[in-house]
This record gives sequence, structure tokens and C-alpha cells, in this order.
Amino acid sequence: MYDAIVVGAGVVGCVVAGELARRGGKKVLVIDKRDHIAGNCYDEYDEYGIMVHVYGPHIFHTEIERVADDYRSSCICTAVRTDRWTDQVRV
Ligand SMILES: Cc1cc2nc3c(=O)[nH]c(=O)nc-3n(C[C@H](O)[C@H](O)[C@H](O)COP(=O)(O)OP(=O)(O)OC[C@H]3O[C@@H](n4cnc5c(N)ncnc54)[C@H](O)[C@@H]3O)c2cc1C
Repeated sequence: MYDAIVVGAGVVGCVVAGELARRGGKKVLVIDKRDHIAGNCYDEYDEYGIMVHVYGPHIFHTEIERVADDYRSSCICTAVRTDRWTDQVRV
């Protein structure tokens, strides 16, 4: 038996499930129609060891280490930065 069922293992579902489990002590079932967690933030490595952003390029950025740690531990998205940086985009 579960205390809660979370539909969708994207960032939101993973964080909600993590909070319910870690802080609330609840037993949580997370289901997703895809065969992986992290939703559109899902990353994987190809045969050359290069990180591929499967659903489009993304970097999760925060200056708060705790938020970054939660993000890293809650889902597979590894593209997390806590340093200040600037990007140049050519259009
Ligand atoms: C190309 C692109 C670039 C982005 N770049 C950035 C970035 O640089 N920085 C940033 O912070 N954000 C970025 N984002 C936004 C970020 O990806 C989203 O904010 C984040 O993924 C939203 O998380 P979510 O959990 O709400 O939804 P999703 O990631 O969409 O996850 C929802 C999950 O629910 C599952 N699901 C849906 N319906 C059902 C169902 N009926 N039954 C079972 N499972 C279901 C889906 O399979 C999916 O896994 C980008 C998004 C895109 C598309």
C-alpha cells in the first residue's frame, strides 16, 4: 500500500515524491509512461561518453546549493550549475 501516487516522473513529480518520502515519511509510488525518470530534463550518455540532452538542450541553474543537490538527487538531470556564468547566443 502507498500513501501517495505521483503520476509523472519529471522534475516536479520527482521533487514532490522526494519531499513526501524524505520529509513526510510517506511511502510513494511514482509512475511514468516513459521508461525513464526526469521527464524532459532527462540526460543520457552516448557510446562516446558524451552527455546527450534527449528532449532538447537545458541547464538547470540556481545559486542555492541545497536546491541544486535536491535537483541532482531527485532526478537524472545532471546539467546543473551553481556558479555565475554568461552565455552568448547567436541568432
Ligand atoms: C528544449 C527545452 C529546453 C529547456 N531548457 C531549460 C533550461 O535550460 N532550464 C530549465 O530550468 N528548464 C528548461 N526547460 C524546461 C524544463 O524542461 C521543464 O520546466 C521541466 O521539464 C518541467 O518538469 P515537469 O516535471 O513539470 O514536466 P516534464 O519534464 O514534462 O515531465 C512530465 C512527466 O510526466 C509524464 N506523463 C505525462 N502524462 C502522463 C500520464 N498520463 N501518465 C504517465 N506519465 C505521464 C511524462 O512522460 C513526463 O516524464 C526546457 C524545456 C525544453 C523542452
